[in-house]
Amino acid sequence: MLSHYQRIRNQMKYRGQSATKSTLAGTACPCIDSETLIPSREWHRDNPTAADCGGTGLINSTRTNLSIYAFIQPPDGDELEKLPPGLRNVAVMKYFGSVDASLNFVSVIGMDEKRDYIVFGSNKYIVRNVYQQKMGDTVWYEEAILERRAN
Ligand SMILES: [Zn+2]
Repeated sequence: MLSHYQRIRNQMKYRGQSATKSTLAGTACPCIDSETLIPSREWHRDNPTAADCGGTGLINSTRTNLSIYAFIQPPDGDELEKLPPGLRNVAVMKYFGSVDASLNFVSVIGMDEKRDYIVFGSNKYIVRNVYQQKMGDTVWYEEAILERRAN
């Protein structure tokens, strides 16, 4: 008999929508400001021969695109009201957990807003406001807001 987790994961895979979790990993660029942790364009102007991270803060980077199955839908009126003011007027979607093709739970927590995104339809989305539901140490469900990126 299937466990509760397995049933949820099966639902995500067979009833969820296809999306891509795209993450960038690499070496921290020396331009990153030690106090703000933000990549600095000035540093690159002052060091024109250094490898350019393109504002990502990573050099020698590799992008990983993982196919996922997720429930993604537009928020309804009440949900829009509850969003933080900064997110109310941009194109957002509600996200409810995902699995990969092998039914492994895929977490979207800790995704970097400049480097990482979810591709859904033909749009890229920044992951915001991740909420995790745990049973003991096991995360079995996540909710998040997807904010449409300009490109
Ligand atoms: Zn840099």
